[in-house]
Amino acid sequence: MRIPRIYIDQDLRHGREVRLPDQAGEHVARVLRLEHGAPLILFNGDGREFDATLASLAKHAVTAEVVGVREAARESPLQLTLVQGIARGEKMDWILQKATELGVARIVPIVTERTEVKLDEERAGRRMAHWAQVIAGACEQSGRARLPALEAPQRMDRWLAALTDTAALRLALLPEGDVALRHFPQMENGATLAVGPEGGFSENDMALLKQAGFHGLRLGPRILRTETAGLAALAALQSRFGDL
Ligand code: SAM
Repeated sequence: MRIPRIYIDQDLRHGREVRLPDQAGEHVARVLRLEHGAPLILFNGDGREFDATLASLAKHAVTAEVVGVREAARESPLQLTLVQGIARGEKMDWILQKATELGVARIVPIVTERTEVKLDEERAGRRMAHWAQVIAGACEQSGRARLPALEAPQRMDRWLAALTDTAALRLALLPEGDVALRHFPQMENGATLAVGPEGGFSENDMALLKQAGFHGLRLGPRILRTETAGLAALAALQSRFGDL
């Protein structure tokens, strides 16, 4: 049986006994019915993996003891940031999950002129917590031991005004874009990919992106849904310049 991988937001080190998050504890004890001494892999997002064994299985607290540590080499050499116009409902979860599997380094959920999802401060906090869980779950499943950074949802104009990274190539995905991926022979410093929401970028959004030095990248002649476009671009970039 595959050894369960569990994300745990704690300081992990050799010899330490840690309490598993409730859901993970429930899963190993009652769904998988693992017993004392069963092997687990823990990670806390810092890029290392910790071998552990189940130490105690009390009803309300399942613990594991860390017995080894190693670097996990599963991060792409290509630093990619996905700036995603917030999509409705489960689509956004899907995008975050798949982008994590595809090795994205950073995710920025943005509110554009045509974003339909309304997030007040309280809802934004709840969405962030939920999205962080989706990302952690995708890391558990895909073998990543470093969590992609997740920025708080923000308005695109404000995010662009505060953008300081000048090294990464800036690409705005536009069905009418005037560049294709083949125009870039190399991509040493990674890329920042902006994807519009369901209704696309407005004229004003596009003007702001252009002003900030984003190239309009066209992904072929067909219109892709927002949940397809960013993932297709990530896969294409990882294939050309990364580790796919
Ligand atoms: N009518 C909208 C438009 O023309 O922008 C369609 C929006 S599309 C459903 C959602 C987003 O996916 C777009 O804003 C763009 O970022 C991206 N997208 C879709 N098809 C694309 C393509 N062929 N090339 C580049 N980006 C694309």
